[in-house]
Amino acid sequence: MRTQHLPRTITRILNTASALVLLGSLSQMALASDRRLAEENQAVKENAKRNVILIIGDGMDDNQITIARNYLKGARGKLQLDHLPLRSTSQVITVDEEQPDLPIYVADSANSATSMATGVATSRGRISTTAGDDQDLTTIAELAKAGGYATGIVSTADVADATPAVFISHIALRGCKGPSDMQPTENTPSWSNLEACVNDQIARGGKGSIAQQIATGNTDIVLGGGSSHFDQTAESSDLTLLALARKHGYQTVSSAEELPGLETSQKVLGLFAPSNLPTIWQGEKGRIAEKPSPSLLNRLDWRLGSVELPEPMRCEKNPQFGSTPTLKQLTDTALKHLAAQDGEGFFLMIESASIDKQSHARNPCGSIGELEQLEDALISALAFAEQEPETLILVTADHGQAAQLKPNISLFAHGGIAVYTPGHVARLITPENQIMAVNYATNDFPYEEHTGVNVPLYSNQQGLGRIAPMVTQPEIFNIMAQYLNLPAAPSKPAAQ
Ligand SMILES: [Zn+2]
Repeated sequence: MRTQHLPRTITRILNTASALVLLGSLSQMALASDRRLAEENQAVKENAKRNVILIIGDGMDDNQITIARNYLKGARGKLQLDHLPLRSTSQVITVDEEQPDLPIYVADSANSATSMATGVATSRGRISTTAGDDQDLTTIAELAKAGGYATGIVSTADVADATPAVFISHIALRGCKGPSDMQPTENTPSWSNLEACVNDQIARGGKGSIAQQIATGNTDIVLGGGSSHFDQTAESSDLTLLALARKHGYQTVSSAEELPGLETSQKVLGLFAPSNLPTIWQGEKGRIAEKPSPSLLNRLDWRLGSVELPEPMRCEKNPQFGSTPTLKQLTDTALKHLAAQDGEGFFLMIESASIDKQSHARNPCGSIGELEQLEDALISALAFAEQEPETLILVTADHGQAAQLKPNISLFAHGGIAVYTPGHVARLITPENQIMAVNYATNDFPYEEHTGVNVPLYSNQQGLGRIAPMVTQPEIFNIMAQYLNLPAAPSKPAAQ
């Protein structure tokens, strides 16, 4: 409990007032803010709980959102996201590991989620640790726990994957997922860089792998994939990580059927796949984006010959999804569990991970299905906020991704000239029976890259007056911390 703090009513009013002072230079916004302050003062009740639900669409930039909207709702349609009352832009900040005062222009999920979780920008691959000097950074989930809030993590990824990991663990490298990753052998590929894990071994006084930190941690509910790490023997113990988690008070589950029977009096670790959860959708017969096939003549001279583009297709159900719980089911379970806890309220992070992972794999149907999962989870979050109005819902992405909406027929394909992408393209048949071309051309490797674009930040009513039209990604931490009356992020030059 936060006995050292001012009574919550007063601190909330002060918090709201300081947020409004910050934004007060815009007169129109100031008027709205004054009204908001008055409403807030009236609404704040003793003993009311306060909650933050942070929904991260991994890689969900405007290209990914537009592609999903066109496919799911049509060009004039609206997603659930589009109905949220606030939309801002988040500037993704990444720093160089060797020279942390220098920027890198494209992030990974580890550093960008660390920005949101801790308020401090770091370098790629780091899990809530500082660039260069490898210091642990306190996370919003840890601060919330210390402040009397319950905490939860829900993801369609492996729970030891970068985005969920940054909220509840600290380590030098995102690849240090399970005990076997902590001890590189001569068979460990050099590109994996796993020697960076050695300093974090428990035997060397470190905190151990990400999965071990989760198993021995105090998060009230953790749901996602990644059981393969938890089947391993823990560092400095004879137990598997799953057994260690039970010893640390977790009830463990592995199927959707077990979700309704969970005890709210006990912490929950739910792992529903060995690695990431399968996606709901795939391309027709498993097809992904393909390379256009130019004729021989065209290969000899770009002005001549023709090109064959990949056959148009629709998305279909991924047979591997099977009885995997949906992100909505996981979200509903987490909300029910967290709402049942005593205390000040809760912090919950929900990640739809495979918008990113399927964009890496050039599989637009995988990404679209995952974005639809995010929409369904958002519906659950909004329904919860209807019942518990002091719930701030933020929806954002960690970084941009490769998929790009490009013309089906090039504007330059006049006079029979074959114009086509140097990359891979999937041509999807939309509900309007039109063809939408999704292009992937960040590289010629089997795995596409992230992009450095700003990403959207949405919120429900509770974000009005608290979120500027453009924020840096580390400022998202401050917005959440302020809402929950938690200490602000440490001031680090890297956060600027
Ligand atoms: Zn990625």
